[in-house]
Amino acid sequence: MTARILVVDDIEPNVRVLEAKLTAEYYDVSVAFDGPSALLKAAAISPDIILLDVMMPGMDGFDVCRRLKADPATRHIPVVLVTALDGRRDRLTGLDAGADDFLTKPIDDVALFSRVKSLTRMKIVIDELRQREASGRRMGVIEGAASKMSGIGGRIIIADDNEAQAERIATELADEHRAFVEADPDRAHTATRSHGDLLIINSASKGFDGLRLAAHVRSDEATRNIPILAILDPSERGRMIKALDMGVNDILPRPVDVEELGARVRTLLRQKRYCDFLRNNLDQSLELAVTDPLTGLHNRRYMSGQLAALVRRAAHGGEVVSALLVDIDHFKRINDTFGHAVGDEVLREFSVRLASNVRAIDLACRYGGEEFVVIMPDTDMAGARRVAERLRNHIADSLFKVTGVEDMLAVTISVGVASTHGPDDTAADLLKRADDAVYEAKASGRNLVISSAA
Ligand code: GH3
Ligand code: MG
Ligand code: MG
Repeated sequence: MTARILVVDDIEPNVRVLEAKLTAEYYDVSVAFDGPSALLKAAAISPDIILLDVMMPGMDGFDVCRRLKADPATRHIPVVLVTALDGRRDRLTGLDAGADDFLTKPIDDVALFSRVKSLTRMKIVIDELRQREASGRRMGVIEGAASKMSGIGGRIIIADDNEAQAERIATELADEHRAFVEADPDRAHTATRSHGDLLIINSASKGFDGLRLAAHVRSDEATRNIPILAILDPSERGRMIKALDMGVNDILPRPVDVEELGARVRTLLRQKRYCDFLRNNLDQSLELAVTDPLTGLHNRRYMSGQLAALVRRAAHGGEVVSALLVDIDHFKRINDTFGHAVGDEVLREFSVRLASNVRAIDLACRYGGEEFVVIMPDTDMAGARRVAERLRNHIADSLFKVTGVEDMLAVTISVGVASTHGPDDTAADLLKRADDAVYEAKASGRNLVISSAA
């Protein structure tokens, strides 16, 4: 798992040491010696990780970090600030500036590579999501910010059987977040699954192995994407590496510095929200691809796929499938009399009634224009007719109220019903029979349900 790393430091030997270490491990390294050129490089090469020295003349590391995080083009790139040993103030300022992680000078190889590895893993996930989101935008299924990022507060599960420490952490977080303390690992896992945005594990818990809990949470599909912050003794280097290796997102050394805790929690939640945001947009784009925008019903593409599968199954001896083709009568007159916008409103109101007057197993879809299809799995002709008649009656019996039009509108529908028969039947044949039946209904005076004779 290699990555492109940008190393920024004003002291050249520092840069060269890091460059040599990272290159030896087959990372692809670029360098910059001051803030402004770091910003240019970051924009130009879009690295996977930026190792950024804090102390630089002119624009310092905090400033560079702030600017990287303010720019949508570089915001997603993890920034590791390199601070002086014992730089507690620096860490707090850095977290505030949006830094994702820290290394202290002199840089310890093990710490360096475990951080780089864990951030690379996170970056790969983010890149994947960003890419899919971008293609959704290109295809036009995502427009604008499809979903807004939610606020800063999160629900945090604290897995710790050290009551005093857990309470201290919970109290510290309570200002901005909702904290839930669980002394039992199974309960902590369950809580994470049901409502956790972040899991804090005290890996020095007496009654359970914190890293085992981390492993469970990581391997459970429902909690795989929940960030984990582990509290570890700084002397336990082996466990620290293991923790980062198994996917723990961040480590907080013991004894817990509550201010640093608060800052790290904020960073983890920000990263999670960003991933959630991308994932949500993706879900919405998939949903949009199968939804008719005017009515919110399934669109024709989705309907075709579903119907084809059901008809194929019926043709191979599966359950019979029926379909209603529903066409609004004299819809053109509504447009001509009241305008297109009123026509749209009638289509929307009709769609609500359609969806609520078919059964739960039925699938209501907009076929196009003022034509709709209801797919009825496991339903024979007689059953489909009953639903069609009920729908026709409901539409004809209660007038439509439309904004800006004083009188209520009378709307009626013509419905064609067809059911699968025989091993050679196809979805296209079924729809053709339903369409012929609609035509017959229109010819016979409209506001009618006609079953296909075939
Ligand atoms: P019939 O009873 O024979 O079905 O008559 P009709 O007027 O309903 O049928 P026709 O196919 O002649 O006209 C359908 C009209 O529906 C024409 C078209 O402009 C209108 N239409 C199609 N899609 C939309 C839409 O999304 N919004 C609005 N307002 N009108 C639409
Ligand atoms: Mg029509
Ligand atoms: Mg019509």
